[in-house]
Amino acid sequence: MKIIMLGAPGAGKGTQAKKIAAKYEIPHISTGDIFRANIKNGTELGKKAKTYMDQGLLVPDELVVDLVVDRVQQEDCKNGYVLDGFPRTIPQAESLDAALEKLGEKIDYAVNVEVPDENIINRMGGRRACVGCGATYHVVYNPTKVEGVCDACGEKLILRDDDKPETVQKRLTVYHDQTQPLIDYYKKSGVLRDVDGTVDMDDVFAAIVDILGA
Ligand code: ADP
Ligand code: AMP
Repeated sequence: MKIIMLGAPGAGKGTQAKKIAAKYEIPHISTGDIFRANIKNGTELGKKAKTYMDQGLLVPDELVVDLVVDRVQQEDCKNGYVLDGFPRTIPQAESLDAALEKLGEKIDYAVNVEVPDENIINRMGGRRACVGCGATYHVVYNPTKVEGVCDACGEKLILRDDDKPETVQKRLTVYHDQTQPLIDYYKKSGVLRDVDGTVDMDDVFAAIVDILGA
């Protein structure tokens, strides 16, 4: 099963993608996580990506498309995958479709997690990310057992630089301009499925399982 997660930054794509990956035993591929790992490791790609990410802008298509096209052809993707944060532009979606077509494959579902902008600001301000394993929490909606400490690995939690209010606003504008058109793109190809992302995380997941099958 090949799945794309769509939705605004902070809509809950990563939260749901992790649950999907665990239930259906497929890899969770987050381009944001890949860039953050590259930044942490000080790679050339990380250095280039950081300049865009810090401003709330998208990293140029040419830095992300080949990376994903290579990743989805790896052995662990043979039964499918869940893409989180990619594609984010129409050219990225077209490149992915063209690459998959050559392989005789296609996307099965584009799950669109719908959350209004007002809720997003609140979500991002409360999001905390682990500096060690990248796990995400929310200070109110998904708190850790010990404040500021990751449940999974014990490392400390931070507010991502790009989750600060001034950058969040920019990211939302970029989302509406460049990423939202993908909703129509996947509607036309018949794979779009909308879910209400404003309800409790477990209820969002239940709605997704209804779509994907138990
Ligand atoms: P995205 O991957 O779309 O940027 P995340 O999955 O990181 O979004 O979620 C953004 C923040 O909102 C996180 O702090 C997460 O814990 C929280 N969150 C995710 N889903 C929900 C939900 N259904 N209700 C409340 N908070 C949520
Ligand atoms: P995310 O963790 O998905 O919210 O991504 C964090 C940041 O990484 C984004 O704001 C972008 O700057 C960059 N990024 C992640 N995925 C992509 C992509 N597919 N295209 C362009 N930029 C991306």
